[in-house]
Amino acid sequence: MVKETKYYDSLGVSPTATESELKKAYRKLALKFHPDKNPDAGDKFKEISHAYEVLSDPDKRRMYDQFGEEGLTGAGMSDAMDANDLFSQLFGFGQGGGRSGPRRGRDMVHHMKVSLEDLYNGRTSKIAVQKHVICKDCEGRGGKEGAVKECTKCKGTGYTVSMRQMGPMVQQVQQPCSECHGQGEIIDEKNKCKTCNGKKVVNDRKVFEVHIDKGMRDGQKITFAGEGDQAPGIEPGDVVIVLDQKPHAHFIRKGNDLVYEAKIDLLTSLAGGRFSIPHLDDRVLIVTIKPGEAIRPGQVKVIEHEGMPTYRHHDKGNMFVKFVVDFPPPNWTDGDTITRLESILPQRPSLPPNGNKQPEEVTMQDASEQQQSRAHNHPHPMDIDEDEEGQGGPGVQCAQQ
Ligand SMILES: [Zn+2]
Ligand SMILES: [Zn+2]
Repeated sequence: MVKETKYYDSLGVSPTATESELKKAYRKLALKFHPDKNPDAGDKFKEISHAYEVLSDPDKRRMYDQFGEEGLTGAGMSDAMDANDLFSQLFGFGQGGGRSGPRRGRDMVHHMKVSLEDLYNGRTSKIAVQKHVICKDCEGRGGKEGAVKECTKCKGTGYTVSMRQMGPMVQQVQQPCSECHGQGEIIDEKNKCKTCNGKKVVNDRKVFEVHIDKGMRDGQKITFAGEGDQAPGIEPGDVVIVLDQKPHAHFIRKGNDLVYEAKIDLLTSLAGGRFSIPHLDDRVLIVTIKPGEAIRPGQVKVIEHEGMPTYRHHDKGNMFVKFVVDFPPPNWTDGDTITRLESILPQRPSLPPNGNKQPEEVTMQDASEQQQSRAHNHPHPMDIDEDEEGQGGPGVQCAQQ
């Protein structure tokens, strides 16, 4: 069992796919959505590349299967490898392809859980991010001045190219240099910087103040430009904070509107009364139902301008109130009261005529839980046999909420 299937879905494979199936699926999609071919599909290309980056790495795949996307960010992994790098790596294309200026590092994406109250009221939240910074002791050289030599095998490029005959074609295969492990340079052991151990960068923890503005949404991104991992000769990418809204106990957000489920008793629904709504900013709204209004179960009413503030403008959406009418328990009263009810409530409708058919008396019992869910079109866990379960696949969900 895997926790979520999003990445598998993006590549159109099942969670049991083998490495070669993954590679095949990615190759097919990457060729289709590569920005060179399909300039409008940039996000799609990034999405499938990211999915493949994770799933093609056995460690990351294990983390993802067990903990989902959360498991990847939680482990401090940057989750936005440059899609183009991955593409070149897989297909052996030359580095850089028309890029000018210093290469840009990948963005570091972090998810931050926020409450609906945070998005309603706005707040400032702190998040600590682990990142690489240039080693101060060697100023990013990796060793004493003059101790860093260009690799002779790859002439400092970090990769070697070999030719491979494939039928009538000769294919160029580019590989990281085995001598310098793709670094393009060699530092002898005794002159290596002790602080960074020749890596040129050290780990650092930086705390970012994230300003959650009123009206921001689930999935909204807040960018700290140039705050990503530092590396010599590379322009750092951004730190991108993605807001993940936690589900709320009473409210469901729909755009700038809020939906509230109000539970009222039968007397209030028929004879009027008051109920309260605890709002997201600690106010309590008191709502009056007029006598005789007769609120029906499932009825929806609206309280204007009590929804979410809109982003930047801060004018408010609406609050929809969806009613649940709480009926009295079974056998709640005696015959006298029933007689009084019959004199108070509208008359019972009479049975429709049967024509010349002879009607039949039947009895009715309480439905079991299983029978109820069947009637509501919810498959009961006991009803699903293995065949159905296997074919459902990801993304097939019950339509009924
Ligand atoms: Zn150093
Ligand atoms: Zn080399």
